[in-house]
Amino acid sequence: MEKKQFKTESKRILDMMVNSIYTHRDIFLRELISNASDAIDKIYYKTLADDSLNFDKANYFIKIAIDKDNRTVIISDTGIGMTEEELSDNLGVIAKSGSLAFKKENEIKDGYDIIGQFGVGFYSAFMVADTITVNSKVFGSDEAYKWESNGAEGYTIEASEKNSVGTDIILKIKENTEDNNFDEYLEENGLKSIIKKYSDFIRYPIKMDVSESNLKEGSETDYEDTIVEKTVNSMVPIWRKNKSELTDEDYNNFYSEKHYGFDKPARHIHISVDGAISYNSILYIPEKTPYDFYTKEYEKGLELYSSGVLIMNKCSDLLPDYFSFVKGIVDSEDLSLNISREVLQHDRQLKLIAKNIKTKIKNELDSLLKNERDKYEEFYKAFGRQLKYGIYTDYGVNKDTLQDLLLFYSSKEKKNVTLDEYVSRMPEEQKYIYYAAGDSNERIEKLPQIEMVSDKGFEILYFTDEVDEFAIRMIMKYKEKEFKSVSSGDLGIEVDEKEKPSSDEDKDNKELFEYMKTVLSGKVKDVRASKRLKNYPVCLSNDGDLTIEMEKTLNSMPNNENVKADKVLEINITHDMFKTLKNSFEVDKDKLDLYTNILYNQALLIEGLPINDPVEFTNNICKVMI
Ligand code: ADP
Ligand code: MG
Repeated sequence: MEKKQFKTESKRILDMMVNSIYTHRDIFLRELISNASDAIDKIYYKTLADDSLNFDKANYFIKIAIDKDNRTVIISDTGIGMTEEELSDNLGVIAKSGSLAFKKENEIKDGYDIIGQFGVGFYSAFMVADTITVNSKVFGSDEAYKWESNGAEGYTIEASEKNSVGTDIILKIKENTEDNNFDEYLEENGLKSIIKKYSDFIRYPIKMDVSESNLKEGSETDYEDTIVEKTVNSMVPIWRKNKSELTDEDYNNFYSEKHYGFDKPARHIHISVDGAISYNSILYIPEKTPYDFYTKEYEKGLELYSSGVLIMNKCSDLLPDYFSFVKGIVDSEDLSLNISREVLQHDRQLKLIAKNIKTKIKNELDSLLKNERDKYEEFYKAFGRQLKYGIYTDYGVNKDTLQDLLLFYSSKEKKNVTLDEYVSRMPEEQKYIYYAAGDSNERIEKLPQIEMVSDKGFEILYFTDEVDEFAIRMIMKYKEKEFKSVSSGDLGIEVDEKEKPSSDEDKDNKELFEYMKTVLSGKVKDVRASKRLKNYPVCLSNDGDLTIEMEKTLNSMPNNENVKADKVLEINITHDMFKTLKNSFEVDKDKLDLYTNILYNQALLIEGLPINDPVEFTNNICKVMI
């Protein structure tokens, strides 16, 4: 018999696959069982499409048998089977999935419950077996074929005998080595617990011959061991189970089994609703940001089942964008299986479920924030930005849902605080919720603009995310309090009478500032005496709705239209340098031009804005030294 080579190269690929894709070798059984379950599903779909066929559930099952003497485990199914060609194509080519092709040919909508699709599951069995034999008889044929391989060297196919339609996978279990005990796969209890752990909710019965100790017939004292066939999986999907039956480990296992993420979920939400609409759902809040989360490629959505049958892999209508990090599944009897995607989008039931789910997630986050602040902070680090985007988009319609979930770093508390915490400790004379925007907390801390507000003893929220100010614009007011940037024109803080300049002084200064304004024409809208500076000589503030931070953000976006905030150069008239300014206004206008330019560039640097001509700026500084 001719030995065929595996199509996709050499031992190395197979070795790599077997030893690195799966870190946990127990999962070989899950892979083979899911293939078996897929194979039965395929018969089921054939009968759906053909009126002359019917599907009697009683005839469809998976059976696991152990033969200790021969060191074999046999996984049999009554599924669709494989032809000679399919054996060669599906098992002879690594990373080729027959299930994917089946879905395409039969135009099965994406996400129908055919677990396979990656074409590597089968090979995981080489982690525990030296030789794998596949004996299969395809649905609608009398011929059977046997495929056999002992790993990378290749495989053989020959005609064989098999009574019924379906597939037997015979694993010759490896001998024990010093580090590895393979005998556990020949133990009834060992296999049973692996099935329970990974394949409990497979929809078809997984049967095993198990030994039971029973009283001998006619005797009241003598026991005998009998072998009985038992179904070892509960067939009830985890989401249909009672919360009280499930442990955190069960939920975590399901999370990794479903490949929702490589992390452990931070929280799970198990929902069972019976009412106007009935559904079961398990939702997860991941612990870590998925690597592609903030990219275009990331697709939100929940798996959608109708009475245990998967309709869609990622039903995006079930999740609002701002909760796009949530993973999980929804199963409802109230959705029809034949529903097409287009209809689904307008399905009233679906909308109800989506609304319900949104509330549940929101409540879960509320409770996390209230009861496990540390955990919430972790969550917020991973996904807080998404919540802020949620407030910003759709003209702020979601602000009521989301605003209480926000956290900002506080100048006073030196840690993250909620808006509610901020407002609840505002002194009576404080009119606004103050914030300062910048690249980092450290930079904001040094901004001259915050001086006045800080000295007043008012708390300042630090905005370090680009989206922060935009989101806050949508909120506008929180508990009747408006937000105010520390750089905005009017801070709403009364200045002490004695610190105000006299009206004569005011008039003098006005001429000076008018002059400086012409020096900086086109660059600033105004030059003024600062009401917020105490120790620093100079800063920029904005005169209009658009703040300088917003200008930076908007201009960093592709296709920006080069927006400009109306900037005001504020001069600290109590600073010693102001005397020099005044003096040069009287005696040396050239000097004043030079000083004005330097001050302006200083203000830009403090703000983190680029200066137009750095060479000129440094030359100017040298001129001052001469
Ligand atoms: P996947 O399940 O991701 O497609 P596998 O490596 O697990 O990849 O399986 C490869 C292919 O072999 C399957 O897609 C399927 O076509 C076929 N196959 C595997 N096991 C069976 C089985 N028990 N019955 C019928 N076909 C099977
Ligand atoms: Mg598979």
